[in-house]
Amino acid sequence: MGTNDSSAQTGASTLQKILTVVVLLIAIGAVVYVKRMNKESGSAVVPAPEASNSRANATPPASPDIAPLSKDVPPTKSGLPRLVDVGAGQCIPCKLMAPILEDLRRECADKLEVEFIDVWKDPDAGEGYGVQTIPTQIFYDATGQERFRHQGFLGKEDILAKWEELGVDVGGSAQATPAFSRWEPAQPDTRPKDQVCYLCDGDINAKTRTILNTPGGDVLFCSTHCYLITHASLTDPEKSHEKASTTDWATGALHPVTASTYLYGMDSQGRPTVRAFADSAAATAEQQNFGGNILNWRAFERKELSTRCAFCDRPVYPEDASVVHVDGGIQTWACCVMCGLGVVARTGSDIDLEAKDALTGEALRVVTYEGHVAVLEPSTMVAWAGATKDAAGKISSTGCFKQAFFATDEHLRQWVEQHPTATGQRVTIRQALEAKLKLTPEQISKACKIGECTPKQ
Ligand SMILES: [Zn+2]
Ligand SMILES: [Zn+2]
Repeated sequence: MGTNDSSAQTGASTLQKILTVVVLLIAIGAVVYVKRMNKESGSAVVPAPEASNSRANATPPASPDIAPLSKDVPPTKSGLPRLVDVGAGQCIPCKLMAPILEDLRRECADKLEVEFIDVWKDPDAGEGYGVQTIPTQIFYDATGQERFRHQGFLGKEDILAKWEELGVDVGGSAQATPAFSRWEPAQPDTRPKDQVCYLCDGDINAKTRTILNTPGGDVLFCSTHCYLITHASLTDPEKSHEKASTTDWATGALHPVTASTYLYGMDSQGRPTVRAFADSAAATAEQQNFGGNILNWRAFERKELSTRCAFCDRPVYPEDASVVHVDGGIQTWACCVMCGLGVVARTGSDIDLEAKDALTGEALRVVTYEGHVAVLEPSTMVAWAGATKDAAGKISSTGCFKQAFFATDEHLRQWVEQHPTATGQRVTIRQALEAKLKLTPEQISKACKIGECTPKQ
């Protein structure tokens, strides 16, 4: 310590660290800059090439989706519809689009020509397309006529859906998969009503049964956890605790939740186990055998309410929840996969969502960019939107416990077979995200009270 050698080393490594930090800051700065640009214009501005852009500059597009018609562009050589993505190898949204273009080349090989033009490397190649910002995607039909253009990032399913809307068959997985739904249960739920949890539809365990007394009668829950989720969903939750009772683990009798003592433990999955007692001495006795911590109502309630869904604000156990990284950084939770997509709508930020296949438990990932699906891992991922349909055809969500993602359509079908009372429909991840993005700020702010997460009436 303190020798010249080591201080020289320290100096060198400090310099290295500073350089690393500087390089990182430059990289972050570049990303932030590009993202700002994107937030404003939907994409980065192309450095104007001299001659070709004069006409484009004179007649700016009226909206991001309508641009000057590009003339002088040769029709497709192959006689196929053609997608041209004008971008640059180093622009962030362009980089995100590269694997999408690759997928489209492979999946639509015989039906679509896919071309990428790097205008930073080769400004001449972009001439004639009338592009003002990158990336821009231009859709040409088989006759070479431009049918649509879009500025900014565009996901694979968005692209395939646009071709479909234009009436141009380019194949591709999203178009090839038929709709799948079930609106009548394959088997009715024959369980007695007093043995079914109001919130999660799970069986009620006699040792943890919890009851909320309402003007319309008693509402039954499988546990204090399901009661507290419902409490958080009430428009006026203030008085609800006074009307809630839970089962004394020792005697089986009901006891007010606020006057109970809770033995709070953990199972092998890290999921809380909760035993309630009317008598704190009984809780201590149980603790001798079972372990765990003894909490009064206030401490128990705070613990239960500490982790919330970033979309609907319901309390969740992290072990049950999907992990959501917002804007590539802050980690939060979603009580179900659909709520995970809802975080895009609620925060206006992009997300990286970690979910699980509801059939196999395998890891799934959804990344959004500018509100579009950018990455699906695996790319065959689909969603089951648990819902009911009334006589008028109006579709209503059956709530967070009935939503699921799957790695493949085959997994979804197997899961639906295994859940004969499930009703709803298969949707693509893009459709699920779009449904969330259609919600008004008012609907989003009340997400746990109305719509998606409304407890059944
Ligand atoms: Zn329940
Ligand atoms: Zn939620």
